[in-house]
Amino acid sequence: MNDRGWSDIGYHYVIELDGSVRTGRPLIRVGAHVQGRNANSIGICYVGGTDKKGKAKDTREPEQKKALYGLTAELLRRFPGATVHGHNEFAAKACPSFDVRTDWQAHLMTLGIPREDIEEEEDAKL
Ligand SMILES: [Zn+2]
Repeated sequence: MNDRGWSDIGYHYVIELDGSVRTGRPLIRVGAHVQGRNANSIGICYVGGTDKKGKAKDTREPEQKKALYGLTAELLRRFPGATVHGHNEFAAKACPSFDVRTDWQAHLMTLGIPREDIEEEEDAKL
C-alpha cells in the first residue's frame, strides 16, 4: 500500500473495499509505485492488505477481487503483451499480500479455455 498520502497517489488505480475502481494518477503520467519499473508499468492497489496488527494479509473482499480481475483483463486488452506482476516480485515487500501471478493464473483457470481455442493454437504451431 501507498504511504505517501492520497493527494498525489503513485498508483494509477485504487480498488476500494466495495469494489469500485478509483482512478489515481492518469495513465499518461508515469507511476510512482515500484522502484525501477515505473516507466513501463501500470500500478494498481487495493484498500487493505494487512490484518489489524499491520501484518501482511490478503484481505480482498469478493467485490475487490472481481473488480481487480475485470480491470486487469481490460488493461491486458488495451496493452497486448503486458504481463501481470506483484510488487513483491520486484521489491523486498509483502504487498500486495498475495502471489499475483498465481492468483491471476488461478482466475484464468476459472474462466476456462474453450477446447477449440486450444486446438487452433496447436494447429498454428505446425
Ligand atoms: Zn506495493
